[in-house]
Amino acid sequence: MSAIDTLPPLRQVIADHQLSARKSLGQNFLLDLNLTAKIARQAGDLSECDVLEIGPGPGGLTRGLLAEGARRVLAVEKDSRCIPALQQIAAAYPGRLQVIEGDALQVDPLAHLTPPIRVAANLPYNIGTELLVRWLTPPDWPPFWQSLTLMFQREVAERIVAQPGSKAYGRLAILAQWRSDARIAMSLPPGAFTPPPKVSSAVVHLTALPEPRYPADAATLSRVVAAAFNQRRKMLRAALKGLAPDIEDRLLAAGIAPTERAEQVTLEQFCALAGVIKE
Ligand code: SAM
Repeated sequence: MSAIDTLPPLRQVIADHQLSARKSLGQNFLLDLNLTAKIARQAGDLSECDVLEIGPGPGGLTRGLLAEGARRVLAVEKDSRCIPALQQIAAAYPGRLQVIEGDALQVDPLAHLTPPIRVAANLPYNIGTELLVRWLTPPDWPPFWQSLTLMFQREVAERIVAQPGSKAYGRLAILAQWRSDARIAMSLPPGAFTPPPKVSSAVVHLTALPEPRYPADAATLSRVVAAAFNQRRKMLRAALKGLAPDIEDRLLAAGIAPTERAEQVTLEQFCALAGVIKE
């Protein structure tokens, strides 16, 4: 393994700062700097961007992002034990790394970032989906970020990129694909992490589209999709009957057979249905 910077190897950082992994914080660390540099490269050209990283831990991905040329990295970490290790990295890259100790669900990072902004993170699994949904549902579009490059459990990654007709297809796929391009960029086995998690992981890369793929009101689309997939085995005329008394007519107006199930309905059809329901 070749070093990507002059800092100590991550195993030594972990030993020096006694960063034994805590399950409660979703700590599965990446210690191979070649791998973290590869993940950083999935985020695209970072030289003109500020990068928001959630959960830097001992800083493997942080070092990858900086070594790959990120203009600036803002790293938000909840575990105070990691902060001295991250400050060491900040000293090695003067003016390019800002570390905030805090809970990513509470901290507003925008005050510390200058556009264009990309997000890159090996997310703590317990808050990964919640953060993704927040980033995909801002009050205004385009969002603050140009792209999201995020590690998820493989099963979540598959839900993000899922297509109609598959079991993984649901609310997350619609949310992600309505206003972004989403693809799985890398797969990682449990052994890539220390300690290894129980399941495989994958890096998903999402690029924000300037406009939604199909026009729809965000709140209505979200309501329709939630209702449809909450009872995914039911026919839509039953699953959606709470949304409008004449739901069968509205489904037909949107080009959807009332006997279809949510799993078969395309993103375009969901957007059309949101339009018909809003009327
Ligand atoms: N990025 C590091 C790596 O790749 O080795 C660590 C990834 S580990 C999967 C998740 C990291 O998120 C841990 O460092 C953990 O302490 C941190 N974390 C957990 N909950 C958090 C929260 N609510 N806000 C910010 N960081 C959090």
